[in-house]
Amino acid sequence: MHNVTLNNGVQMPILGFGVYQIPAEETQAAAEAALATGYRHLDTAAAYGNEEAVGAAIKSSGIARGELFITTKLWIQHAPAGSVQDDTKRAFDGSLRRLGLDHVDLYLIHQPLGDYYSEWRAMQEINKEGLARAIGVSNFYPDRLVDLIDHNEIVPAVNQIETHPFFQRAADQALMRERGVQIESWGPLAEGRNNLFTDPVLSAIAEAHGKSVAQVVLRWLIQREVVVIPKSVRPERMAENLAVFDFTLTDEQMDRIAALDTGASVFFDHRDPAMVSRLGGRSA
Ligand code: NAD
Repeated sequence: MHNVTLNNGVQMPILGFGVYQIPAEETQAAAEAALATGYRHLDTAAAYGNEEAVGAAIKSSGIARGELFITTKLWIQHAPAGSVQDDTKRAFDGSLRRLGLDHVDLYLIHQPLGDYYSEWRAMQEINKEGLARAIGVSNFYPDRLVDLIDHNEIVPAVNQIETHPFFQRAADQALMRERGVQIESWGPLAEGRNNLFTDPVLSAIAEAHGKSVAQVVLRWLIQREVVVIPKSVRPERMAENLAVFDFTLTDEQMDRIAALDTGASVFFDHRDPAMVSRLGGRSA
């Protein structure tokens, strides 16, 4: 497996397995199948409600902890009567307990909403204690990311953001690179939106390599040095999504895919006030 090196020296596999929207009762089997297929990097979140199942799969796999890279995420801490920093530590302890682990490899702020500066200060301590080998953020647009960096001690190791052929984030990636933040794609296959799997440009490139559209898209992201965490509950697709290290897209093919960018989300805008209120009001 190819790794990227994060800004604190931690090695992160460039390809992992995401478990968003897998129902809790199906997640253990899916994560076990992913580990059996060869994935060593799993991406979950407190808000997905399936950390326990991911932990059970890790345990039953028998794979040495040092071979695995486990990411989970902090949901927005409301702390009505207390301190967001204390609540962040409690939330982190809850994630560790549900995962059955004594540390995670990457802990992310899930959304740039609420008092995430207090959350980040608690996470810096969690990082210094060695309980999260790296800490980062998710869904941060460049302005919020730069502000967080400029007013804190530890630079986020990762920003996990929607990134796929229809929303490519090239300028965001350039800014992150300048600031030492690794880009990680969520929704690398755009969850199939905009007819991604039958897109004529992607299909023609896939045919030229004897590969699937999913493989071409994942390969394109990896060649851009974007970390990817595709999700599937089907073992044959898990294997397909992992088999992307035996071919290379040409510059011309990379350019043809670059032309598919619409510059906008295919899901929702994190800067839409209605969405900010909706997400911000949710509990994990
Ligand atoms: P994705 O782009 O990985 O799409 C997953 C869907 O694509 C599957 O449900 C399946 O229908 C289809 N698919 C997968 N492999 C395929 C293949 N080889 N051929 C045909 N169809 C295939 O979408 P995602 O699950 O939203 O994103 C991946 C991961 O990113 C998530 O599981 C989660 O871990 C993370 N994520 C994070 C956030 C965030 O806010 N940080 C948001 C969404 C997702």
